[in-house]
Amino acid sequence: MKKDTAVIIAAGGKGTRMGQPKQLLKIGGQEILIRTVSAFKKVKRIKEIIVVTTPETFKVVSRKIKGLKFAPAGKERIESVKNGLKEVSSGTDLIAVQDGARPLVNPSDIEICLKAAKKDKAAVLGVFVKDTIKRVKNGKIVETLKREELFAAQTPQCYRAEVLKRALKKYGNEIFATDESQLVEKLGIDITAVIGDYKNIKITTPEDLIIAGALCKKKK
Ligand code: C5P
Repeated sequence: MKKDTAVIIAAGGKGTRMGQPKQLLKIGGQEILIRTVSAFKKVKRIKEIIVVTTPETFKVVSRKIKGLKFAPAGKERIESVKNGLKEVSSGTDLIAVQDGARPLVNPSDIEICLKAAKKDKAAVLGVFVKDTIKRVKNGKIVETLKREELFAAQTPQCYRAEVLKRALKKYGNEIFATDESQLVEKLGIDITAVIGDYKNIKITTPEDLIIAGALCKKKK
């Protein structure tokens, strides 16, 4: 298979909701970020992996996994992704953007999402929500949303390189966007929703570490 894909791993967060930076916390005996990078190392079509983080964290990861590229973390996630994009080699066909904090992503799901992006221009991995979701304003429920239409976006989010570049150029100053696919939506491009796995959680708050640890044990 032709190596046509670059991956931007956004790992520049400060872990505010965890109370500490989480990239190098361990689950199942291995650092979160090393687990995440390792999943992408298993995908054959990937030619480069750019880790967006602090120089100190990169030092630790690149000692264990060779051949990674570095980009500096930005203040907000979108800024981090823009920094990563600067390191993508010219001639790259597909770009996957991954949360560093999703260490349980399946290599097979990464492949499926990339394949969909190659065909459709843009594809996002995710799962339909299990809870009933309501909109709340000033402490009161104002609306109940249709659960069968609600898709919790995970990562990777995969794009033809040209599409991601265009979205970030046009809307990349919207620094409070929590993912890139909302910027691609604004371009009017259809994004394919690829059904992923409930195990692909984002480690955000302390209890996620316990859940992820249990899921690691199950995987073995
Ligand atoms: O804050 P949130 O949980 O949405 O972050 C998702 C991912 O984006 C995390 O892996 C985090 O490290 C990354 N991020 C980043 N740069 C920032 C903020 C978050 O790369 N400035």
